[in-house]
Formats: sequence, structure tokens, C-alpha cells
Amino acid sequence: MTVNLFGESQQALAEIVSEFSDKPFHARQLFSWIYSRAETDLVRMSNLPRPLRAALSERYGISHPRVELRQTSRDGTVKYLLRLEDGKAVEAVYIPEKTRVTLCISSQIGCPLGCTFCLTAKMGLVRNLTAGEIAGQVAVLAREHSLAANGYNLVFMGMGEPLNNYDEVLAAFRLLTDPQGFGIAARHVTLSTAGVVPGIRRLAREDPRPRLAVSLSATTDALRNELMPINRAYPLAELFLSLRELPLAPRETVTLEYVLLRGMNDRWEDARRLASLAGRLPLKVNLIPYNEACRDGYAATPLESARAFRDALLSRKIPASIRRRRGADISAACGQLAILDPAILEHPIPVA
Ligand code: SAH
Repeated sequence: MTVNLFGESQQALAEIVSEFSDKPFHARQLFSWIYSRAETDLVRMSNLPRPLRAALSERYGISHPRVELRQTSRDGTVKYLLRLEDGKAVEAVYIPEKTRVTLCISSQIGCPLGCTFCLTAKMGLVRNLTAGEIAGQVAVLAREHSLAANGYNLVFMGMGEPLNNYDEVLAAFRLLTDPQGFGIAARHVTLSTAGVVPGIRRLAREDPRPRLAVSLSATTDALRNELMPINRAYPLAELFLSLRELPLAPRETVTLEYVLLRGMNDRWEDARRLASLAGRLPLKVNLIPYNEACRDGYAATPLESARAFRDALLSRKIPASIRRRRGADISAACGQLAILDPAILEHPIPVA
């Protein structure tokens, strides 16, 4: 058994390499082979001295998550089931758009937050993903679709609450945005949170950091407590205070995601309250049509009413749009990522 180097930081690789080589640039070369050139065979890293390659490969290897299942939607969206080293599985989604591709990746297996309209919540939290497992989803999808670095956007909108797995998510973000790593521009990466305020405050101090999206979905604490129990810990006033304190880059906006649930949060008063919460914050509102999760009792807002809700925001000078539904026929849409079958979730890879 070799130890997987995928996911190790520049610094960790330097330490590993220093055992075999006194040249710091060998670690930098190794880093760039692993993340920028997506090489998984140490022996093929042609600019490293042969004895170094041989010594490393005795103890170390490089491996990505394994593609176990691909499901392709009529609209071109592809959902991947990826198998991890411990036999557990996670989902990631490839979403082609007119001018760009978006990769939607997971930060946890399952999720502990219990939002009542979301299918991932039904899994509970199985475990956190490591930085390597998070960046590994990107490596696999980029390879599958021959994506050039910087040819795609990245959204932490798959399974899990990224700010509840802060250190690993940030470590992955660094591998993904390092020019010698994946080389993705930080402004092309969006992290979506259900509103973990301490995480937002911590993120505010990172440089570079991903763009921020916040899943709001209710405009009163009473309703939000019910739909998104995390609100009991971090109510609306505190959440918006943390957003007002977030230092923004020029032209940067925060996205508010708002799942439209018929008769629950889609009335005229909701639009009015949403506009006043937004205040003068530079943000845009992304209205998400509810995707059927389980038999959870919710229904989608009819398109006509969704448009009226959007127009009510626009008339109050709040930029708003309705998110196009993608991959709903393969359960790859927002809120539909879940592996509820234990046999699929956990199916250990037989050891050779
Ligand atoms: N935990 C983070 C990351 C997940 S992003 C967060 O909550 O932001 C997943 C997005 O899908 C969130 O905006 C969530 O509100 C939305 N969502 C969850 N269930 C949904 C459903 N059934 N239909 C539409 N959107 C849903």
C-alpha cells in the first residue's frame, strides 16, 4: 500500500521530498505535476531525477476518486458518482452552459444541517471530505470533459455545508487556485453556505477567497427557523451583519439563493422583506425553482408567480434572476444530491 499524495499542500510535499532531495524546486515540480498536469504516475514525471521518482514511488502514489457511475441529463448535465479510497461515495455535477462550464462539487458526504426541503439533509452527515477528495472531484471532471484550466467555473454547491468543513475546503481552494496548481481564478469559484456566520467571518479574512453565495430562502426568523434550523444558531440579523462586514472586491457581489416554495415564501410580502433585508448590500438574488426532493410536502412556485416575485425585486432595484433548472431528470438539480441507498453509499473497493 502506498500513501496518496493527491491533496497534499506545497508545504507538505516539500517536507516529503526533503527526505530524498535537497533541492526545494523538486517539490514545486512535483506539485505542478500532480495538480497542474494531473499526472498520476510518479515515474512519468520526466523532469524529476530518476532515483527520486523511484524512491518516491516505493512509498507514495497519486490517485483520484474513481468514476463509478455517470448519468447524463437531456440538457447535457452529467452527474458523477465517485468512489473514494475508504469505499464511500460522493456526487459531483458537470453543467455545460452557453459560454462556460460549471462544475458543482461536494464538501461533505451528506450534510448535518437538516434543511427541510433538501434531499441531502436526509442522509445526515456521513463524514467530511478531505482537501484531496474535494480537489479530486475537479481533477476527475476536468479530465472527463478535457477542460482547460480556467475554462470553467466552480461552485461549492453539491452535498454538504462547506463552512462546516472549513479547513479542508480552504486547503482544496488553495490547490485549485494556486497558479502552479489547477490555476483557477479565485473569482471563478463560488462557495455557497446555509449561513454559518463564524465561517463567513473567517472567510472574510482570507486572501484570496472564493466568492460567497448564501442560501436564504426565508425572510423572517420564524419561517427560516423552520426551513433551515441553522437559523436558530445564526438568525437573519446576525447573518446580514456578517455580510455587510465582508470586504468586497470591486464589482464583487454576494449571491442570495432563494428556493421558491409555493405558499411558503413566495408572496409579495416576502419579496418586499427580502428587498429591505438586502438593503444597499451589493448583491444579487438567485431564485431557485424548488426541485422535488422526497415526499416532503413542498411544491414549486408556478413560473408566473416566480416571475412576479423576481419583478417585485427588480422594481426595488434588487438584481434578481430565476435559475435555470438543470439536470432535474437525473436528480442532479439543486437539493437533489443524495445517496440514500447504503449499498451504493458504502461499497468498499475490494483490496487486491
Ligand atoms: N450547504 C450549502 C451548500 C449546498 S448548495 C448551502 O446550503 O448553500 C445547495 C443549494 O440548493 C442551496 O442553495 C439550497 O438552498 C438549494 N436547495 C436545497 N434543496 C433544494 C430543492 N429541493 N430545490 C431547489 N433548491 C434546493
